[in-house]
Amino acid sequence: MKYDVIVVGGRIGGSVSSLFASENDVDVLMIEKNSEIGIPVQCAEATSELTFKTLGIEPSNRYVCSEIYGVKVHSPEGDHFQMKPSDNEMGYILDRKVFDKSLAIESAKAGTDIMLKTTVKDLLIKEGKVSGVVAKHLGKTTEIEADMVIAADGVGSNIARMAGINTLYGVKDIGSCVQYKMVGIDVDPNYMHFYFGREVAPGGYVWMFPSENGVTNVGVGIRNSDKTAHHFLTKFLSNFNGTPIEMNIGGVPLSGPVEKTYTGGLLVVGDAAGHVDPLTGGGIHLATSCAKIAGEIAAEAIKMGDTSADFLKRYEEGWKREIGSTVKNSLKYRKVLDKLNDKELNALIRFLKGRDLDSITSRSLLGLVKESPSLVRHLRSIL
Ligand SMILES: Cc1cc2nc3c(=O)[nH]c(=O)nc-3n(C[C@H](O)[C@H](O)[C@H](O)COP(=O)(O)OP(=O)(O)OC[C@H]3O[C@@H](n4cnc5c(N)ncnc54)[C@H](O)[C@@H]3O)c2cc1C
Repeated sequence: MKYDVIVVGGRIGGSVSSLFASENDVDVLMIEKNSEIGIPVQCAEATSELTFKTLGIEPSNRYVCSEIYGVKVHSPEGDHFQMKPSDNEMGYILDRKVFDKSLAIESAKAGTDIMLKTTVKDLLIKEGKVSGVVAKHLGKTTEIEADMVIAADGVGSNIARMAGINTLYGVKDIGSCVQYKMVGIDVDPNYMHFYFGREVAPGGYVWMFPSENGVTNVGVGIRNSDKTAHHFLTKFLSNFNGTPIEMNIGGVPLSGPVEKTYTGGLLVVGDAAGHVDPLTGGGIHLATSCAKIAGEIAAEAIKMGDTSADFLKRYEEGWKREIGSTVKNSLKYRKVLDKLNDKELNALIRFLKGRDLDSITSRSLLGLVKESPSLVRHLRSIL
């Protein structure tokens, strides 16, 4: 068996890479270890209009559970400020089981072959270049050759590591998350809600993302704590009267992309590459953008007959142009947020109330100096 491109992982990173490679007329095999694409969900399912724009599609009722008109950010003392989405940032809560599957369906229609319940155990490497995979399907191990492989196997990518790329994160750099889908949560359905505070979610936040069908995604992401994410979620939920119908857990890489996202015969995309916004933990749009570039570059490499690291580095140059500054800025903001104690968070959220974020200048922070000089120092470092 031989393919031009093998993609390991069948969620967003995998399906979008496969789709754009197949649309550019190369033979693609996508391999997914689970028996169904999109399951289990490990996501709070919020994304923006940009995801659909990148894919060149209109959001569909099949997988959009609700449109979100704004964001409410809650402080430890119970105050909040709210924002409306700007252009291109209309928010959506998706049904990822359906969304991920619909991406795989489009990819299959474009020509991608898909193997389910198949785990890639190893890489074939010839003359220092990745040249296929060793895959196990229902107890049988097979070697499948390919001119190149795309690793879309999620956070901590084993596949990229097999090719010599360090994809491991320390506890300070990974968000530990747990979420319930819940019925009966009484919350303003037009907004996504974020709750901050050292006691609420150290190193992260609690989210509540409501859908029109009466189901709300309620979860927490934390970093570097001696207590579990589940501990903080249980504590938060003790103030609500909801019933869980689904639970999901997962880790999110929050320190930006891994050191290198290509080598001879291999590209790394999505969570596997650390393509996640370090401030919000959102990876759907970034994985989509980078996977589109990966699929296109893979097809170009096959057509040029050049899958060397030297050729494939244009993938990294491409995604850096597309998402590099967003990730860099978010990491800067997150590092400032990490430094704020609850008192400073309270002061910040009171200050932001009713203000347009774009209008905040170093001068406008003067009003905060009396209340919290340390907060002003932190904020000035990012203005
Ligand atoms: C709790 C939680 C909430 C989140 N909420 C949001 C949110 O609201 N909005 C947002 O934008 N992002 C969110 N994210 C992040 C988002 O889910 C990810 O960024 C996104 O799913 C990344 O997609 P991916 O395809 O790169 O990787 P993954 O979704 O991790 O997919 C990797 C796939 O590879 C398969 N695989 C792994 N190893 C192998 C192997 N050896 N062989 C074959 N298959 C393999 C896995 O089974 C899996 O299907 C959240 C993450 C978590 C954990």
